[in-house]
Amino acid sequence: MTEESPGAPGGGRPEDVRHRLVEVFGERVSASVPLAGLTTFRTGGAADWLLETSDPADIVAAVRVTRALDLPLTVFGGGSNVLVGDGGVRGLVVRVRHGAISAHGTSTVRADGGVTLNGLVRWAIQRGMAGLERWAGTPGTVGGAIYGNAHFDGLMVGDMVAEVGLVDRTGSILRVSGSEMAFGYDESRVQHTGEFVLWANFDVAAGDPAKLRAAARESLGFRKRTQPLAQASAGCVFQNPRVTDDSLSGGVPRTAGALIDGAGLKGCRVGGAVVSTIHGNFIVSDGAATSADVRTLIEHCRSAVVDRFGVLLREELVYVGVFG
Ligand SMILES: Cc1cc2nc3c(=O)[nH]c(=O)nc-3n(C[C@H](O)[C@H](O)[C@H](O)COP(=O)(O)OP(=O)(O)OC[C@H]3O[C@@H](n4cnc5c(N)ncnc54)[C@H](O)[C@@H]3O)c2cc1C
Repeated sequence: MTEESPGAPGGGRPEDVRHRLVEVFGERVSASVPLAGLTTFRTGGAADWLLETSDPADIVAAVRVTRALDLPLTVFGGGSNVLVGDGGVRGLVVRVRHGAISAHGTSTVRADGGVTLNGLVRWAIQRGMAGLERWAGTPGTVGGAIYGNAHFDGLMVGDMVAEVGLVDRTGSILRVSGSEMAFGYDESRVQHTGEFVLWANFDVAAGDPAKLRAAARESLGFRKRTQPLAQASAGCVFQNPRVTDDSLSGGVPRTAGALIDGAGLKGCRVGGAVVSTIHGNFIVSDGAATSADVRTLIEHCRSAVVDRFGVLLREELVYVGVFG
């Protein structure tokens, strides 16, 4: 891979790109920013350009300016479900963190795309609004949770989504109902359309804060018991296989973690990347992993599970940027 100066390729002359980005975002936009520290895996290269923002209007402006410059645009939130390539990310990366939360009546909570799920849970519990408490401890933002339809213990976040504000790749703003979001297991429409999440409305009900706090603590306790939270990771690497899958007969494990465990992969290592001994579907970094180590280990797990069980695992985490 050849390293290119920030702004290229596809973005015209680097000085024109710099000029235009600074014109729109001022000094908030920075060049050649390492992304590893902005992801939970803590691996990967640098963004050509980085804008950190909590303002949905900045996402819209980013779509419009990168479209005009023909510059690649990547949007991420908590960086808790991505693996950034060691070669970095070309074009503009917008990291969306924080934002506004508000109640609309007693049955709807609206949160900007950069609001953390944990912040939203705390906000709702304090106001006696029930429905979000089981998401306590899920890393990442509202935007990331909607992109992947975050799931926990049989629940899917999309089931609570009443409406979403999106910006499409032309820079137009849309309001889309939950039923138009095409939520499925680990799926939403934005994975196919390339739209970005500006905000979302969640359905909530009245609840007793003490009971909601207890439910949140239960979720946090479950995570502490079952996940390697002290080590860097991006959560589950693979999706669970579809239960309709014909290959899942005759005692073949039904979850990705159990398939990986059954293939004897727990503790398996490539460079600084290791299959967690606590949860088979987590790959963790020992602090020295590169994204190439992680990706090689992912491929090794995939082929070992095919060999042992005939099941082809697909990634839940998202690859961003340049690998290899
Ligand atoms: C310890 C640990 C535990 C986890 N537990 C769970 C769990 O229980 N359930 C679960 O589902 N996941 C879990 N995850 C994975 C992760 O937390 C979720 O997938 C989370 O929803 C990702 O949100 P994020 O903001 O970090 O997204 P990012 O990692 O920043 O991005 C992920 C994807 O979403 C896209 N995206 C982000 N923001 C936007 C936006 N505003 N508009 C459009 N697209 C956007 C990005 O482009 C990228 O493709 C866990 C991860 C870790 C590290």
